[in-house]
Amino acid sequence: MSKLTLDGFFSYCKQIAEHIQLGERMAALSGQGTPRLTSAVGNLYYDSILPYREDANPQTREFLQRVLDVLLDYVQQVNDRNEKILDFKMPEEMLKILDLHLPEDPLPLKQLLEDCKTTLKHQVKTGHPHFFNQLSTGLDIVSLAGEWLTAAANTNMFTYEIAPVFILMENVVLEKMRNMIGWKGGDSILAPGGSVSNLYAFLAARHHKFPYYKEKGLTSLPGHLVMFTSDQCHYSVKSCASVCGLGTDYCICVPSDERGRMIPQELERLVRYHKDKGHIPFFVNATAGTTVLGAFDPLPEIADICEKYDMWMHVDAAWGGGLLFSKKYRHPRMTAIERADSVTWNPHKLMGTLLQCSTVHFKYEGILLSCNAMSAEYLFMTDKIYDPKYDTGDKVIQCGRHNDIFKLWLQWRAKGTSGFENHMDRLMELTEYMVRRIKEQPDKFQLILEPEMVNVSFWYLPQQLRHVPHSADKELLLGKVCAKLKGRMMQAGTIMVGYQPDERRPNFFRNIISSAAVTERDVDFLLAEMDRLGHDIIVD
Ligand SMILES: *Cc1c(COP(=O)(O)O)cnc(C)c1O
Repeated sequence: MSKLTLDGFFSYCKQIAEHIQLGERMAALSGQGTPRLTSAVGNLYYDSILPYREDANPQTREFLQRVLDVLLDYVQQVNDRNEKILDFKMPEEMLKILDLHLPEDPLPLKQLLEDCKTTLKHQVKTGHPHFFNQLSTGLDIVSLAGEWLTAAANTNMFTYEIAPVFILMENVVLEKMRNMIGWKGGDSILAPGGSVSNLYAFLAARHHKFPYYKEKGLTSLPGHLVMFTSDQCHYSVKSCASVCGLGTDYCICVPSDERGRMIPQELERLVRYHKDKGHIPFFVNATAGTTVLGAFDPLPEIADICEKYDMWMHVDAAWGGGLLFSKKYRHPRMTAIERADSVTWNPHKLMGTLLQCSTVHFKYEGILLSCNAMSAEYLFMTDKIYDPKYDTGDKVIQCGRHNDIFKLWLQWRAKGTSGFENHMDRLMELTEYMVRRIKEQPDKFQLILEPEMVNVSFWYLPQQLRHVPHSADKELLLGKVCAKLKGRMMQAGTIMVGYQPDERRPNFFRNIISSAAVTERDVDFLLAEMDRLGHDIIVD
């Protein structure tokens, strides 16, 4: 037997230590309990991993791998129909459970891993198959992978210099989207949300009609500008009037018909009325897929009126844009969208791209630069070695811009254009299924209108209101049922559906099917669960 040297002894100790760590690691990976860091890494602080310690690659990897395990566990829970969507707590109670305080001294990595777990534990699972609450739902796995890569690349989208691949991706994807609208050429940008996209459209329209506004401001305008939009439009359109100096009184609400579509004759009447008063009608917003009812304004008629009175036509297709993929559903809903001057289209809604991903498109090449360029010399030098047209930073009213393209590009690669088309057709098919199921249970559910999109507007009738003839008084009671039933849904945590009133009626439910996780079985569950939670509600 050989003698144990000192070196041999140390190596022996190291092996034992590695075995202990291996044991801890095995325990962490065995699926028993939640992801854990080995004590060797868990007790480290931020300054013992990259980039503070060049030799800390293994520790850094272990930390990130355990965080990834937490995220993967969450992805699994989101897709588990036996899991609740949320564990609702009042804000005061939530504040007591969570340790949100910012410490004076550093916390160890194991605490940060716990913080990640706790955060997701109390988060609403918006990708759950029983979440019908919002226009942006679902957890597209490929898009998620894209978002993770985006975070790791951590670059800013203002210059080609620091985002060469992503800038070229933007060009390819945005051009494809413009082609789908029906344009050759043109200009586009990704903006932080549909509301800001609409603002970009407004700014471009004003610049197009009054090119001196940029330098001369209000003095360059020959009179008071007015804009038009339907009474069903997204509130961000009205906010343009406030932000851009028109005043909300000069954002004219055009009445809509009983299905929520702008009435073109009313638009023309109001345009004439304001012209006669000496105002300058210059901008019309048509909505393709309204936020509450999912209605489509009649684009051909609106385009005629815009042409006749020389007004800019913007289509807010933040919500409905995804249907451009569908040969079956695109027409007649968005027929004539190519006649618009600008279009807002949010991939983070129907297309299921992760938040945030919103685009705005223009028929005119170069309009964004012409409208928004400030030519900051520290970023957009004109003597760079590459063509400065690849620098997008001067096209926007922001400076830096988040990378919202990679997750969309990757998702598009995964699905192909045909995959998005199938997704749209499937969402519409499920909506038709839901409408059918509602009509099959007229004692419990009342459909408010035939939907044009995936918004299903309806009332739920508890036992108290069944077999009571419909009347305005009954509608008021049905409205109260919505708030009560929503409260019960939140407490039970099993389903989530939104409700709201509109100009024509008190509260009603608006169900949204825009998640790829939803199936017929989930629609059936939703209706049965509403009845289980709500049948004994009493209102007065
Ligand atoms: C959601 C929506 C918007 C706003 O989009 P955000 O990304 O939430 O800012 C604008 N218009 C319509 C029709 C919408 O549905």
